[in-house]
Amino acid sequence: MEVYPGIHEISRVSNSYLVMGDEIMLIDTGMPGNSGKIIGYLKNTLKHDSQDIKTIVITHHHFDHVGSLDRLKEITGARVGVHRADADYVSGKKEQEGPAFMRIIIGLLKLIYRTKPVEADILLEDGDEIDDYQVIHTPGHTPGSICLYSPKNKVIFVGDNLRCSKGKIDGPDPRLLPEPEQFKESIKKLADLDIEVILSGHSPPITTAASEKLKEYIESLKS
Ligand SMILES: [Zn+2]
Ligand SMILES: [Zn+2]
Repeated sequence: MEVYPGIHEISRVSNSYLVMGDEIMLIDTGMPGNSGKIIGYLKNTLKHDSQDIKTIVITHHHFDHVGSLDRLKEITGARVGVHRADADYVSGKKEQEGPAFMRIIIGLLKLIYRTKPVEADILLEDGDEIDDYQVIHTPGHTPGSICLYSPKNKVIFVGDNLRCSKGKIDGPDPRLLPEPEQFKESIKKLADLDIEVILSGHSPPITTAASEKLKEYIESLKS
């Protein structure tokens, strides 16, 4: 569904976004087995060819965001951008951390779907620009978590850094926040941005009073 003019959300466990511009950018790829749904939407609803996706950006290395990356890179031929600090997890050089049960489930899914690690084409850094979006490095949930912000349309993609719960903005579940202090510093970087729409990795879009809600959350981190 179109969540903002030219931005389409494809949702299944986690959200992927197709950003329409001169070229098409895909943000996050979802769980394994998600490529058909994304490409189906692109072809049937947007009337575009899979090769029109020129860039795939990953907000962070977690499996629910990179699960279909190998397949989608293969289908589209797109270049893949990952923050430098998460690239080794995506390429399989480092093992995913987290609770044991989660690692077991991920191991099983990898076997079932035969997912392959992916070598990034672009190692993103804080301050980089990709299409109209600025890369903001926001470590805490993972070392290479990023937000993507466009000053043009005032849209920010936050990955798993923020979620919306009961109309309010919240951070990741504490069990999924290995570096809480680092996370607080990361989120403070967003305080002065002029934001109208927040698009997250799992929640529905925040389209009303986004800046105010975010400021309220950032204030709550100080106490
Ligand atoms: Zn995550
Ligand atoms: Zn996630």
